[in-house]
Amino acid sequence: MAFFDPKSKTISGYQKSIDERSSSIRKYYDEIGKLYYGQYKDMNTDNTKDINTRCEAITRLSNEIEDLKLKILFEKGLKKCTNCGTENSLEYGFCFKCGAKFPDDSDKEPKTDFEEAAEKLEEEKAEEVKEEEKAEEPEEEKKEDSEKED
Ligand SMILES: [Zn+2]
Repeated sequence: MAFFDPKSKTISGYQKSIDERSSSIRKYYDEIGKLYYGQYKDMNTDNTKDINTRCEAITRLSNEIEDLKLKILFEKGLKKCTNCGTENSLEYGFCFKCGAKFPDDSDKEPKTDFEEAAEKLEEEKAEEVKEEEKAEEPEEEKKEDSEKED
């Protein structure tokens, strides 16, 4: 804690999210092992569904970890070439190693799928509140509209 760089706080937050996901993944692998064992120990047991849900969770968490790694890179002023995987400076238009072109918005902060999902949920909540407010409004305006339609 020698430096009070606000970026290092952001990065450690991302790192914490990565660590949490990594330990969840280990837990799921462990559970899959037990379920798999249970299935083959007793042939009447069918754990396929439980195994599948855990496989899906591992895939989702792995993708989220990749996204978080990109966000850490961004905080460090770097981005990754999707062609060769080399780290480049954010301002580069082309990968210095393989020459692949970066998308125009590649210098912007990468957004993770789960962040987008969370934002969408927030927007939906906000919409619901608006709907509730509308319901409480006096009916006068709406009456006028319906008269015009008639
Ligand atoms: Zn490259």
